[in-house]
Amino acid sequence: MLSELIDKFYLDKEKDHERHRFYVTDAGKCPRSVFYKFKNAPGKDMTPEILRLLDHGDYIQMHMMSNLFSLGIVRASEVRIPPQEIVSGRADAIVTLDNELYVIDVKGINSNTFKTLVEAKPDNVNQIQLYLHFFKIPRGILLYVNKNTLELKEFLVDYDKDRCENLMAELAALKAKIGQNIIPARIGGYPGDYQCRYCQFKEVCQISGQGEIDWGAFRKKIETA
Ligand code: SF4
Repeated sequence: MLSELIDKFYLDKEKDHERHRFYVTDAGKCPRSVFYKFKNAPGKDMTPEILRLLDHGDYIQMHMMSNLFSLGIVRASEVRIPPQEIVSGRADAIVTLDNELYVIDVKGINSNTFKTLVEAKPDNVNQIQLYLHFFKIPRGILLYVNKNTLELKEFLVDYDKDRCENLMAELAALKAKIGQNIIPARIGGYPGDYQCRYCQFKEVCQISGQGEIDWGAFRKKIETA
């Protein structure tokens, strides 16, 4: 009885979540999957369990933030990137260590992933790179927390101007395609790429074919199928 109510709460929250802007987490992702998200294409719905796990990540982040506050090193928390046309996002914190500023991003991950983690995940690096870019801070730290044991691993990230400019250019190109209703091509690694394995739009992507196509015509085709 109660679990059904909680599940419904999460599913309703997800339903209301319409996309109008890019988030920093979209940077470097498969453009086609981001396009589908903006257009509310039919895809595999997120389950209440996954939505709760994502929520749980926020509590891990709050836990770590309270540790950083206790250490007295936090200069700002929940820092939004300056408003601009393309992307929005919020870094967990900016701290001072040895008189230097660092952007901090906390990531809660499961035990299996944590054990095999020997370098920061590329998606997370893209995200923190954009924070460094917008805050004009040369270094950041990705702090990974094992959600099962609360062990920590950290990776230092140096600002990479070229990478940030590429990420921003890719987002600008995708923004144009969303405006023009052009479904972007599949990513090069399709279908073996890890993004494809976990993609909620796998089925619709398979029907769309390899290259760019018109969204309006394609939508009609799947609606009448
Ligand atoms: S299946 Fe792969 S190529 Fe297709 S939308 Fe998903 S991530 Fe992109």
